[in-house]
Amino acid sequence: MRILLMGPPGAGKGTQAALLAQRLSIPHISTGDIFRANVSQGTPLGRKAQEYMDKGEYVPDDVTNAMVRDRLTWEDAVNGFILDGYPRTTAQVSELDAMLADAGIGLDVVVELHAQPEVLLQRMVKRAADQGRSDDDPTVIRRRLEVYAAETAPLLEVYGQRNLLRQVDGIGDIADVTSRLVAAVS
Ligand code: ADP
Repeated sequence: MRILLMGPPGAGKGTQAALLAQRLSIPHISTGDIFRANVSQGTPLGRKAQEYMDKGEYVPDDVTNAMVRDRLTWEDAVNGFILDGYPRTTAQVSELDAMLADAGIGLDVVVELHAQPEVLLQRMVKRAADQGRSDDDPTVIRRRLEVYAAETAPLLEVYGQRNLLRQVDGIGDIADVTSRLVAAVS
């Protein structure tokens, strides 16, 4: 299965994508996780990404596209994957379309995990306290939500028109949300 998981910051994409990936025995490919790993290892990619992440802005498309193009060629992704956090712009959608077309494959389903803005905010504030993610600061959170609304929310329509989109309620116990996701992709 080739699954794309979408949703605003704080919707629980990362948590749910990891659980779903385990269930389906396919890799969880999170651009945010890859960027954070590079930041903590101090790689050139990490230094570049951090400038943007710390402000709540998107990392430039050329950087992100090249990273995903490489990751999708790994052996573990031949039978499927869950993409989490990519694509996030219409330009990235075109780029992903091209990558998949080159490989002669396509997406099976796009799932949107949704939750009300107040819930998103509460969760990110709690995560800041628990995990200390540097972009979970109130000003940066506000900016991330704005950037999502402006740049990424329009992608839902694109995938809706392709009849690939399913919506899942992200509110509730982690296990309940996972069950809803499993049902949505089955
Ligand atoms: P969240 O969805 O909670 O904001 P992520 O872990 O998915 O968190 O992403 C964290 C940050 O990494 C984003 O705010 C952005 O700066 C960067 N990032 C992740 N994916 C992309 C992408 N596809 N394009 C550009 N920047 C990205």
